[in-house]
Amino acid sequence: MVTVLQIAFVLGLIILITLFVFEIRIKEIVLLPDDYKILLNDYVKFYQQLDDDEKKKFEDRVQHFLTAVRITGVNAEVEDMDRVFIGAAAIIPVFAFPDWQYVNLHEVLVYPGTFNQDFDQAGWDRYITGMVGSGAMQHVMIISKWQLRQGFINNADAHNTAIHEFAHLIDKMDGTMDGVPEIILERRYISRWVSLMNATTQQMKNYGSDIDMYGATNHAEFFAVISEYFFERPDLLQANHPELFEMLERIFLRKGINS
Ligand SMILES: [Zn+2]
Repeated sequence: MVTVLQIAFVLGLIILITLFVFEIRIKEIVLLPDDYKILLNDYVKFYQQLDDDEKKKFEDRVQHFLTAVRITGVNAEVEDMDRVFIGAAAIIPVFAFPDWQYVNLHEVLVYPGTFNQDFDQAGWDRYITGMVGSGAMQHVMIISKWQLRQGFINNADAHNTAIHEFAHLIDKMDGTMDGVPEIILERRYISRWVSLMNATTQQMKNYGSDIDMYGATNHAEFFAVISEYFFERPDLLQANHPELFEMLERIFLRKGINS
C-alpha cells in the first residue's frame, strides 16, 4: 500500500536531485567576461564581418568552448582578452560546422612571452610560440600569451599563432597530423589537396614565397600556416594563390561541396 507520505517522500527526493543536478550545471557555465563584445568587435576581424545572427552564434560557441576547455596560466595571468582570443581562435576555423567539438582538447596552458620548458623540443612551433601536445601532453595546447595577443592585434599580417594551433588540432582529429584534415575535407578532394601542398612547398623551397617559409617544413605545418593566411588575409591569398584559396574555402567554409 503506497501511502501519501511515501509519495511525498519520493516527490521530495526527485525535487532535491533535480536541484542538485541543476546547481552543478549552473556552476559549469563559464560566463564570458563583461567586455567580450567590445574585445570581439575591436580585435576579431572574422567576427566583425558577421551579421547580427551570426555574431550571436559566434558568441554562444565561444562561451561553449570556454565552458568545455580549461584555460590555465603558467607563470602568466590569463586575462579576459586572452580568454576571448583563445575562444575566438577555436571557433573561427570551425564556424561552418555548427556541431563541432574539440574532443581532442581538454586544456590550454598560457605561457608568458617565451618559454624554455623541458618538453620535447620537436613539438614546439617555431620554438617559442605554441604547440599541441602529444604523449603525456595529449589533449593539451600550449600558447604564448604574447603571440596569442599579437595574432589578433596585428590582424593583417597573415600570422595568428592561436589559429595555427587550432588548425593542427583539426588536422589531428582523424588520428594523424599530416596536413590532410580528413574530418572536414571530402575524400574526393584529398589527392588534389596533397598535390597542391607538394607543389606549393616545392615552389616555396625553390623560389621563396609570401607564404611563411615555416610552412615548407612539412605538410602539417603547411596546413597550419596556410590556415593562418586564409583567415587573416583571405583577400591576399585569393589574389596570390587562387587555387589554394579555393581549396581552403572548400575545407573550412564547405563551399562548392556539391559541385
Ligand atoms: Zn605548427
